Amino acid sequence: MKLFKDIIRLSNKLIYNLNDDLLVMRKIDLTSFNVATSETARNINRRIVLDLIRTRQPVSRADLARLSGLQRSTISVITDQLVGEKWVTEGAFGHLPRGRKPRFLHLNVERTGIIGINVRPVETKIALADLNAQFTAQESFPTAANADDFITDLNERVATLIRSHPQVFFEGIGVSVPGRVDLESKRLVFAPNLGWRDVDFKTPLEKATNLSVEIENAANACALAEIWFEQRGEGIRDLVAVTISEGIGTGIIANGQLMRGAKGVAGEFGHVSIKENGELCKCGNRGCWEVYASNSAAINQYVQATSGGRTNKQNGSSDNRQPPTFKDILRLAEQGDAKAAEALDQMAYHLGIGLTMLTTGIAPQTIVLIGEVTQAWKRIYPIIKRVVAERSPSAQTITRIVPAEAAEQPRLRGSVALILQKHFGAPAFA
Ligand SMILES: [Zn+2]
Repeated sequence: MKLFKDIIRLSNKLIYNLNDDLLVMRKIDLTSFNVATSETARNINRRIVLDLIRTRQPVSRADLARLSGLQRSTISVITDQLVGEKWVTEGAFGHLPRGRKPRFLHLNVERTGIIGINVRPVETKIALADLNAQFTAQESFPTAANADDFITDLNERVATLIRSHPQVFFEGIGVSVPGRVDLESKRLVFAPNLGWRDVDFKTPLEKATNLSVEIENAANACALAEIWFEQRGEGIRDLVAVTISEGIGTGIIANGQLMRGAKGVAGEFGHVSIKENGELCKCGNRGCWEVYASNSAAINQYVQATSGGRTNKQNGSSDNRQPPTFKDILRLAEQGDAKAAEALDQMAYHLGIGLTMLTTGIAPQTIVLIGEVTQAWKRIYPIIKRVVAERSPSAQTITRIVPAEAAEQPRLRGSVALILQKHFGAPAFA
């Protein structure tokens, strides 16, 4: 976490002569913190201390003071608060050559939990994670077609999860959704693949659970998680997370900050048209990137290829075959089915076309692709690489295109990161 380290370095260097809080404030280049109140300064110190405990645990209060450059009295106030709120516990006494024995602090991993929710068309996942973002319980359930029904179902399931873990102190709920979220109202603006508009998940879920709820677009949440968990080395300041599922979403970290755009709805590259007069998209536009490069695109292509160019509708009622799932297509391609392989190749080609918008226009250090399609990385990556190289030659020396680890469940991890990044470290993404 480079920004965090910068803050520590600066605070160590500058802290001794003036008001430390204000110095830390002044040195953080955060447009969202233009108005520095003592409240935000205290929050920043709290985040710094909590993140130091996370990365250095077990750690004494004296060490925290030394590492952060904050005064001992400030450290005492903050750590007492963190212990009271169950984020942190006091463990064994340390051994020093002489003098009093300090008690070591560590994260309350066993007793503290975060609920992560990943909403997708067809299936939604709820997971309980500890403070290290390890999932300790998880369930999936069908996503109701109607948003009100879905919210009722979701709230009941989350309440049941909470009740069944009475020993856990819950710190919050992170929800990632397949659409953009209004920055101020926190309402889901539009989820084209669910047909939901202007939906409020936050208020009913907070009422049902009495916990704070953070809601964010899935691609944004994944981008935050990439930075937060630092899987790919330190110092990434320009990164795009591309979620490829029923649709395509992008979450953009530029200059170390999540790019939100006006009203928070930036990142809809999936709905930028790559074909004039192309096929109609669920958003109402024609020829959108996701019409050609999403899981749905591969399914449609496969269905058309296997029905002699006719759609299911044209086949009439005599054809009762269920359309394949995207997982079916991955499996068929793996087994050597030429039509499934061709559907994936076409998807990869169009992924490459759209990715050149990002490589040429934004020049990120890293593009992380998230979705089931990365299971076929050996097949799709050479195609993506070729298309990007042809259309965005400078990208080869600037941008790495990598798959997210499917085992880490990146979308769920992203929803957990929404809560973690709110409490730990500097508020780079506030
Ligand atoms: Zn569209």
